[in-house]
Amino acid sequence: MALNYATQMDAARKGIVTPQMKAVAAKENMDIDQLMDLIAKGQVVIPANVNHTSLDPNGIGKQLKTKINVNLGVSRDCRDLNVELDKVMDAVNLGAEAIMDLSSHGNTQPFRRKLTSECPAMIGTVPVYDAVIHYQRDLGTLTARDFIDVVRLHAEDGVDFVTLHCGLTKETVRQVKAGERKMNIVSRGGSLIFAWMSMTGEENPFYEYYDEILDICRKYDVTISLGDACRPGCLADATDRIQLGELMRLGELTERAWKKDVQVMVEGPGHVPLDQIAANMKVQQQVCHGAPFYVLGPLVTDIAPGYDHITAAIGGAVAAYNGAAFLCYVTPAEHLALPNRDDVHEGIIASKIAAHAADIAKGLPGARDQDDRMADARRKLDWDAQFAECLDPERAKAIRDSRAPGDDHSDTCSMCGKFCAVRSMNKALAGEIIDIL
Ligand code: SF4
Repeated sequence: MALNYATQMDAARKGIVTPQMKAVAAKENMDIDQLMDLIAKGQVVIPANVNHTSLDPNGIGKQLKTKINVNLGVSRDCRDLNVELDKVMDAVNLGAEAIMDLSSHGNTQPFRRKLTSECPAMIGTVPVYDAVIHYQRDLGTLTARDFIDVVRLHAEDGVDFVTLHCGLTKETVRQVKAGERKMNIVSRGGSLIFAWMSMTGEENPFYEYYDEILDICRKYDVTISLGDACRPGCLADATDRIQLGELMRLGELTERAWKKDVQVMVEGPGHVPLDQIAANMKVQQQVCHGAPFYVLGPLVTDIAPGYDHITAAIGGAVAAYNGAAFLCYVTPAEHLALPNRDDVHEGIIASKIAAHAADIAKGLPGARDQDDRMADARRKLDWDAQFAECLDPERAKAIRDSRAPGDDHSDTCSMCGKFCAVRSMNKALAGEIIDIL
C-alpha cells in the first residue's frame, strides 16, 4: 500500500502516526504526540529506510535514551563475511542500536543487503568509502556524479542513515593547507574528499549537489548524518576555527534538509579536553537547532592507545549528559589495529556504560531501575540476581568463579571474605553473631 508520507518527519508534520513512531514511543515510555512533535521539529530522528525490511526501529534525540553505534564491515585484512556477520549479531545482542557498515574491500553490496534484510539494528554507511571500491577506479578519476550515484545505491539497498561530509569546502582546504592544524584531517571520509578536491580543484560534490542528495534521501527516508570531516584528531586541534567553521555549515545544511522533510543528525568531535565538551554540545545544539548530535568519542586524552574505549567512555558520558544523543563506540584497538571480537565486545560495553551513566544523570524516567535492582541484590548477597542485572553477566560471573571465596563464607566474594561489610551489616541488623575469626 502506498504511503501518504515521504519520511518520518513528513509524517510527523502531517500528524500521521507511523508504525515506527508507535514502536519508538512504546520503547521510550513516551507519549506519541510528544514524540511526533520532536520528530516534526527535527529534534528526534527515526532512521528507517523504507527498504530496511528487518528493522526494529529506534529513535535518536532529545528526551530519548542515549543510543550507541558499532562500526563493522569487511576490509582487506578481514574479508570473511561470516566473521563480520557474527560480530554484527554479537553487537546487536549486547545492545547496539545501530551498526555502521564501513566495508572497504571487494563487492560491498551483498553484505550491505544482508544487513538490511536480516539485521534489526539501524544500518548506516559512509558512501564516499564505497565509491572508490564500487567503481574500482582511482580516486582522482571519479566524478561528482559517481559519488551521488553511490548515495542512491545505498539508499536503494535499504541503508537507514548515511554519513555525508557535506561541510568540508574549498575554504576548509585552504585553511588546512595553510597549516592551521597539528593533525590536519583525521576523518577517513573527510580525507578522501579533501584529496579528491585537491586533485580535481572542484568543490565538494556532497556540498555542491546537496539538493539532489536530499531528493534521494527523501524518497527512501534515509537520515543524513552530516559528517564531521574536520573533527579534531588531537586535543590541540579541539574547538578550533576549522571545526567550528564546518559546524556552522552543518547548521545551514540541517535547515535545508528540514525544508524537504529529510531527517538529520549532526556528527561531532573527536578529541576534546574534558572541560570543553559541555561547551561543544551547547554550541552544536544552538547552531544546528537541536538536531540530534552523534559524537565519535569524544576522547579526552591522546596518550592512552590500548585503552581508548575508556578515554571515549569518559568523554561520551559527559557529552551525552550535556546533550549528545548518539555515541559511536570506540574499541581498545582504536589508533592501533582493526578491532577483533574481544575489542568489539569491550568497546560496546564501554559505550553502554557511558550512555547509561548519562541517562541516569539526565533523570530519564526509569533509567535507574536496573541499578536499584542491582543494589537490592547486592544487599542480599544474591549473586544470581546480581548477574541478571549486569551489563556483561558472563564476564562478571567468570571473574567471581575464577576467585571463589571459601566454603564457610561462600555468600561473600574473595575481595573481603569474612570481613564482608554487607554480610556483617546483614548479620548485625538481624541480631546475629558475626563470625570473623
Ligand atoms: S566481600 Fe567485600 S567486595 Fe565482596 S561483596 Fe562483600 S563487601 Fe562487597
